[in-house]
Amino acid sequence: KKIQPWREIKEWKYNDWMGWWDQGDGKLFYGLHVENGRVKDEGDFRLKTALRVIVDTYNLPMVMSPTQSIIIRDIDPKDKDDIEKILADHGLKPIEEVDPLNRLAMACPALPLCGLAQTEAERKMPDYLAQMRSLLNKMNLSDEEILMRMTGCPNGCARPYMAELAFVGDGPKSYQVWLGGSPVLTRTAFPFKAKMKNTDLEATVEPILAMFIQQRQNFEAFGDFCHRVGAEAIEAFSASYVPGSVKAIS
Ligand code: SF4
Repeated sequence: KKIQPWREIKEWKYNDWMGWWDQGDGKLFYGLHVENGRVKDEGDFRLKTALRVIVDTYNLPMVMSPTQSIIIRDIDPKDKDDIEKILADHGLKPIEEVDPLNRLAMACPALPLCGLAQTEAERKMPDYLAQMRSLLNKMNLSDEEILMRMTGCPNGCARPYMAELAFVGDGPKSYQVWLGGSPVLTRTAFPFKAKMKNTDLEATVEPILAMFIQQRQNFEAFGDFCHRVGAEAIEAFSASYVPGSVKAIS
């Protein structure tokens, strides 16, 4: 069968549909961010119980989103305040208070749930996100939104190969680093580093962010920048980078 010619994708905007939306028939829907897709109760954070209360009280249909979150549909506008209160009472932040890095990120279940996992993902991602937040703040890049993904093996169930920055598990406490996907997930990333130990995250990413600060064009996104300059240029820059020597002008 003849392969059809390449078709251009129209420009489009990524939208995760989190927060409150009018669904067009007088009802509302609410996109509830679920970090790495894990519905759980843990200390004061009681997402599982909150969902139970919402289902028992309102019997609303829910949809799992392709970014591991939940869309609660068919909400009567008069119930909006009460549902917000249920979520707040169970320790859930409104979407405006969720760090954009966390909101964009995804990790697969990996250890201990997946027999193919070579290392952690869902349980490690919060630590990586915290380190990335700290690094971005330190380099005066706190407003940057970088789409990150992590998986426990190269099967790539959290779609790391389209992310701006991705970590693909390849052994105990070790990840491949992928760069250059687009913020709207329309481009495949490239492998940048074959192995990065957990302890080397900052040392690996800081030089790339420094190059991004110095060489980005206009308001280029991080993934678009990496795609434009390519792996070789980033490697060369990283080799001569002095840690702590570059910050964005605040
Ligand atoms: S990416 Fe690998 S470790 Fe993660 S869920 Fe898929 S198969 Fe399992």
